[in-house]
Amino acid sequence: METNTTETNNIKFRDFDLKPEIQAAVQEAGFVEPSPVQKEAIPLILEGNDVIAQAQTGTGKTAAFGLPMMSMMEGNGEVEGLVIVPTRELAMQVSDELFRFGKNAGLKTATVYGGTPYGKQIDRIKQASIVVATPGRLQDLLKSGKIKINPKFVVLDEADEMLDMGFLDEIKNIFTYLPKERQTLMFSATMPPAIRKLAEDILKDPKRVSITKKESTNTSILQYYYVVPEYEKDDALIRLIDYKNPTKSIVFCRTKKDVDRLASHMTAQGFKVSSLHGDMEQKQRETTIKGFKKPHGIEMLIATDVAARGLDVNDVTHVFNYALPFDSESYVHRIGRTGRGGKTGEAITLVSPNELRTIKRIEKDVGTKMISDVIPTRIEVQNSRANELVNKIANTKITPEAIELVKTLQHDLDIVTIAHLLASMIQSDNAVKGKDNIGLGLEEIELLIERAMQNRGNDRGRGGPRRRNGGRGNSRNRSSYGGNRGRGRDSRNGGQGSKHK
Ligand code: ADP
Ligand code: MG
Repeated sequence: METNTTETNNIKFRDFDLKPEIQAAVQEAGFVEPSPVQKEAIPLILEGNDVIAQAQTGTGKTAAFGLPMMSMMEGNGEVEGLVIVPTRELAMQVSDELFRFGKNAGLKTATVYGGTPYGKQIDRIKQASIVVATPGRLQDLLKSGKIKINPKFVVLDEADEMLDMGFLDEIKNIFTYLPKERQTLMFSATMPPAIRKLAEDILKDPKRVSITKKESTNTSILQYYYVVPEYEKDDALIRLIDYKNPTKSIVFCRTKKDVDRLASHMTAQGFKVSSLHGDMEQKQRETTIKGFKKPHGIEMLIATDVAARGLDVNDVTHVFNYALPFDSESYVHRIGRTGRGGKTGEAITLVSPNELRTIKRIEKDVGTKMISDVIPTRIEVQNSRANELVNKIANTKITPEAIELVKTLQHDLDIVTIAHLLASMIQSDNAVKGKDNIGLGLEEIELLIERAMQNRGNDRGRGGPRRRNGGRGNSRNRSSYGGNRGRGRDSRNGGQGSKHK
């Protein structure tokens, strides 16, 4: 493995034995260096192997199977490739990406999902080289005999999500309609036992690609968590938005009801938000996602897990977990919406005091460090904005109109007063709303973690008898639980670091 890693380190796309048309499309897409999963999977697929590959979200799995598959296609007017994906959104996304790669080679893609008329889809399939489909509709079409296809390549993309969504029976049934002679590829962010079992049934002597946790966890995502009681979460979210200035963000809630409530709250607070959940009409969802992708459109999506699965928007700067996900895998999927395509991102999780054990478990499962941080106070945000303002003012070009304006003002006022008035005017637009302190301080958090860990295995498990004792005094670093922890001995960010970007 050692030698292999060093050998593959400098591999570029042009080193792969891909058709010239496909190479050209890769260049056009601006890809230079293949991602780790691409480096390993592409040669194996080109050699004709079945492959089972595990890599985190956002690591380029679509191109990992799409490029070699398309490179081996003839473009003979038959359906040569079938890609099965869990959701409609993913079907569209994967189609778009494959279309980009295949258009020079004349490879057409048909997208197949439920909730739309059959006729048009069937026509498209007849002209396509690649079909990208969700399991339900695909099974319908095959079972009813509306389509007959003999793909040489079959891909299960985001296989873990498909099983999570309960598509196992559909998938097994679909395979009864597919030719035995085929190359089968399976891609997944995680490899639970059910996936391995399915792989045994449908893959032949598969080569395994597993991008180890360290490589696979997208290191371009900084992960923070904040301990905030339930009733302070709205305030905490707004304060963090004020502080972190996300360009585009996704806020995850647990239920559709939570999504709706938070969306109307945030709208009332003046944010440009849209909600995304499973009950929405397909049209509505597409419009929402389009609006979110636009540079100056919706700035924040408030979503449930299912609705945002696999969503690929390149410029999501922040993912907020307003509520913890149900399991570690969902956490991985959620945070994978940021830090995509080589960009950096932040994942910010609000944890209520009795959920500390859960977040520690997620941290362990995911295998990356999360930074425990304290919600900035109003003054801290104000100060950081003041700094930004000073820079902005210093870098502003003086216009002739401004010179005239100051001249006019100087009839009645001295220059210092004018400056103060103008600064106050700008400042008042920048005032930070909300109470001073939100959420728990670092030492309170540490104490709760310690208790949660001690209580592991016995029934008290709610992080101790008292959550907090109210009066936190002036110092956010002073524990409210007593004197012996006054200096926060093992403070993970040493009271700094994360607070200054
Ligand atoms: P995954 O399926 O692993 O979640 P995707 O295939 O959706 O990831 O890719 C995530 C993003 O990264 C996409 O926007 C894709 O165009 C981009 N991408 C993929 N491979 C590369 C690469 N080698 N270089 C640059 N960008 C890439
Ligand atoms: Mg994918």
